[in-house]
Amino acid sequence: MSVSTPQGSGEFPDPGPRTPDPGLTTPWYSEGLRFDCQRCGKCCTGEPGLTWVTPDEAQALARRLGIDERTFRARYTLNVFKDGVVRTTLKDRPAGKLGHACVFFQKGVGCTVYEDRPRQCGTWPFWRRVIDSPESWAREAEECPGINQGPVVSAAEIAATAADDGLP
Ligand code: SF4
Ligand code: SF4
Repeated sequence: MSVSTPQGSGEFPDPGPRTPDPGLTTPWYSEGLRFDCQRCGKCCTGEPGLTWVTPDEAQALARRLGIDERTFRARYTLNVFKDGVVRTTLKDRPAGKLGHACVFFQKGVGCTVYEDRPRQCGTWPFWRRVIDSPESWAREAEECPGINQGPVVSAAEIAATAADDGLP
């Protein structure tokens, strides 16, 4: 690609202040981060939460459960108006001492749709907002005992996961 100079001046125009290229900056997690799910179920229970489901995910879950998508949506999902857009989330239900639980969480079993769980469940804890800073990572580590356990996940893998974390 060529760069042209303004006719007659012989100089490049002032490009303004330089901005960092995000592709060139080193993330704070450049050495990688450790994560190993302890299957405690805390992320599927507790306070009422939102688990976003895309149309493809809804279809896969309906297929898994042997029901049509319309029935699946009526039984297991809610539409939520957020940031000017209607999105679909899995329902929560009261779960006694656990507080609330995702409609697919079963005590003693965990996620009953594990292989077809929504993307945001599979990308945890490498969500954009969680890896945003060491502080946000440390905050989530207080709630999720799998954070900072187990093998190191590389910075490249973390960045790729966060870039498509399944969250709006
Ligand atoms: S809170 Fe963390 S360790 Fe517990 S089930 Fe969820 S991801 Fe795994
Ligand atoms: S779909 Fe499964 S992993 Fe995701 S919140 Fe529900 S029970 Fe947890």
